Amino acid sequence: MIGGSNLKRKRSKQCALCENFFKNSEMSEEHYPAKSTGNEDIVALDFGKMVDLMMSEKVIEKLFHKDNQGRTLEEVSGNFFDEELAQTLYPQGRTARSLCRQCNTFLGKYDEAYKKFFDNDGAPSIIKGYQKLTRLKIIKAIFAKYLSVPECKGQNFDFITFLQEENQETYEGKWGLYCIKRDYSTDLFGLGHLTTGVMTYEEGVIFVLSDEKFIFHLMDFEPHEGYRSLNMMELLNKTYTLISGRDLHDGGYHGHFMIQEMLKV
Ligand SMILES: [Zn+2]
Repeated sequence: MIGGSNLKRKRSKQCALCENFFKNSEMSEEHYPAKSTGNEDIVALDFGKMVDLMMSEKVIEKLFHKDNQGRTLEEVSGNFFDEELAQTLYPQGRTARSLCRQCNTFLGKYDEAYKKFFDNDGAPSIIKGYQKLTRLKIIKAIFAKYLSVPECKGQNFDFITFLQEENQETYEGKWGLYCIKRDYSTDLFGLGHLTTGVMTYEEGVIFVLSDEKFIFHLMDFEPHEGYRSLNMMELLNKTYTLISGRDLHDGGYHGHFMIQEMLKV
């Protein structure tokens, strides 16, 4: 067709929420997880080096050196982590351009609600005191973060309307969203790990997202026995129980994920 080449689409990026097309410059630079939840100056944990170092006498000597007496293993390994294993990966935090500015601003209201959950360590006694709409926004904040997770690109999530409609209380789609509170068992030597990822099982798929305090699993099948953590929809109930890594069999899916990531190297 004459002039066909002029039809090149300039608005090339599609917003994951409103699904309209935008120029790259009209897209937002959104943080996943939210910046306020520890997503700043992300460092990469060199797993391969870590395994090697853990095996070496030099490191064992260093970790248990007499200068470290009276310091917790977390303090010692924290320094060790900074000095030996960390490389700055995302100095501005982890961001993506999956949303238009308007949608990112809209979802910011959900992030504000989530901040309450985060700041209060998810404590049921406090969170249950918030209005239902706030608790609903906390849940939606996390569902929405998955729109920016690189491993989720191309997924046609069925919770878009649930996110767009601020007051919609029910979601009956195929995805379940589960939450684990970080503890010593989820974080090797107290080192949190904010990597996103995907795990594939015969039954379906799990997308991983985490912040400094919580780890989330978005999955399209029923959790296996002993691996079931807090279903985020339970925040709408009168009360709920937080689940930590130690409450789960072998660390649950997070344990699997850590092993999967280590073997990748
Ligand atoms: Zn949009």
